[in-house]
Amino acid sequence: MFGLMQKHSLLISDLIEFAQLNHADTEIISRRVEKDIHRTTWAQVAHRSKQIAHALDAAAVATGERVATLAWNGYRHLELYFGVSGSGRVLHTLNPRLHVDQMTWIINHAEDHVLCFDMSFAPIVAQIQSRCPTVKHWIALCDAQTLAQSPEVSECVPYESWIAPHSEEYIWPELDENTASSLCYTSGTTGHPKGALYSHRSTVLHAFGIALPDVMNFSAKDSVLPVVPMFHVNAWGIPYAAAMVGVKLVLPGPALDGESVYELIEQEKVTFAAGVPTVWQMLLNHVTPKGLRFKHLKRTVIGGSACPPSMISAFKNNFGVEVLHAWGMTELSPLGSLCTLKNKHLNWSEDEQMALLVKQGRTIFGVEMKIVGDQGQTQPHDGKTFGDLYVKGPWVIERYFKDPHTALKDGWFATGDVATIDAEGFMLITDRSKDVIKSGGEWISSIELENIAVAHPGVAMAACIGMPHPKWDERPVVVVVKRPEFDLSKEALLNFYHDKVAKWQIPDDVIFVDSIPLGATGKMLKTRIREMLVDYRLPD
Ligand code: ADP
Repeated sequence: MFGLMQKHSLLISDLIEFAQLNHADTEIISRRVEKDIHRTTWAQVAHRSKQIAHALDAAAVATGERVATLAWNGYRHLELYFGVSGSGRVLHTLNPRLHVDQMTWIINHAEDHVLCFDMSFAPIVAQIQSRCPTVKHWIALCDAQTLAQSPEVSECVPYESWIAPHSEEYIWPELDENTASSLCYTSGTTGHPKGALYSHRSTVLHAFGIALPDVMNFSAKDSVLPVVPMFHVNAWGIPYAAAMVGVKLVLPGPALDGESVYELIEQEKVTFAAGVPTVWQMLLNHVTPKGLRFKHLKRTVIGGSACPPSMISAFKNNFGVEVLHAWGMTELSPLGSLCTLKNKHLNWSEDEQMALLVKQGRTIFGVEMKIVGDQGQTQPHDGKTFGDLYVKGPWVIERYFKDPHTALKDGWFATGDVATIDAEGFMLITDRSKDVIKSGGEWISSIELENIAVAHPGVAMAACIGMPHPKWDERPVVVVVKRPEFDLSKEALLNFYHDKVAKWQIPDDVIFVDSIPLGATGKMLKTRIREMLVDYRLPD
């Protein structure tokens, strides 16, 4: 017997309709590529997303065709999020930090039909235009006057002229909720990038999931700043959850340096922000020496790579800001887990609470997790036993775009991460499987060794990697960028490890470098660090 409830599809167009109807005058603030601050509202975003839908109809862009964006976090990008997906096309967010060859490969693989770009990416567009034959419409996210100042790109239409002739009213199509809505490629650190193709259903369910109180806890009282780019896994789903709840949204554009982010946080009374650790480090580097304070910021989600415990304590103790450590990946829309305490932990000491809060946290309803050992056996949730982390759920991919083979093993997706899970469901990522250091048959967590290094006041950034060793297979070495004002020696840093890990886990060496290579999403590129160290030999 079936239930007797309405079979109403979960659609992205419903999110923007809801925001228009219930939060019409709630503001959307953007720092534009043009550098000024632009103010609009959910009602305006809804109207203009409908004009986009008309413009796509007029250009005869079929349902399911890909509309790519090469854009920062801003109101026009937000309008495209709803106008493209809401009207049945697929929004393909491109990562502008990729190499042009890789970007061209992705555009051709996705067969993008339209490409909308911020003017700061005009030089990239000029390089790729002739190499992307599937793209029929190049839309510059600006007005005609601004476009006229950039002669390097040809045959482009200014966005404002493209949408202007069209009505602000539009009847959204009643799509099947499993219709594809957006596409995001993994950064492809191994082999070609792979596309995760999200659906309306997965996106709306993910938005419900992340808005929950023990997750991002969104409220219409919040002013939310996603520093995480809208080209990186849909800014962790925040634009959709923002429309669902009716938050004030603050979009930072290209200015991600500490000073600009701080200014926006204070001016727009931001209560909640989200970003990767490298961006928050820039913010801390700006505010700490100047003795600045956050007047309104209450909580911030940090994820995408491991958030060092020292960063969590710095935000809490020096600024009264709660850090929510989150874990996710492109294939998970992206959120898998987030760390918040349970009622019983409220009586714990601060140190005990902190020991928990540094983990990647509890899974949220919508993602199931298990850890699996070398022989395929499910590992116990005892907080000690490591295993390969597997997930499943309605916002986890089944297979990659244009790949006929399943990405699953017995219904589970292998994340490529190694983790422990404790009896209460708190998960700790110890490594990516390819970064685990195996020494004398034992695993050493590179993340743990990196976290200790960056807790030293003389260390700005640290990456730990395994180096081949004739007896132990591999031994850890730590590659370090020093803080300029600090005279740090190798011995001092190695001594710093002594009371923090077992003796055999202490790195064999410290290698000082000027900078650590970062990938397109701000993560340390360990493959490149290994290449830098091909001629390196461990000390005897
Ligand atoms: P890519 O796989 O292309 O780097 P993703 O953004 O999808 O892009 O990266 C997902 C990976 O990032 C995860 O599998 C995990 O290794 C890492 N990651 C994400 N969040 C965290 C976190 N909080 N702690 C440690 N690693 C993390």
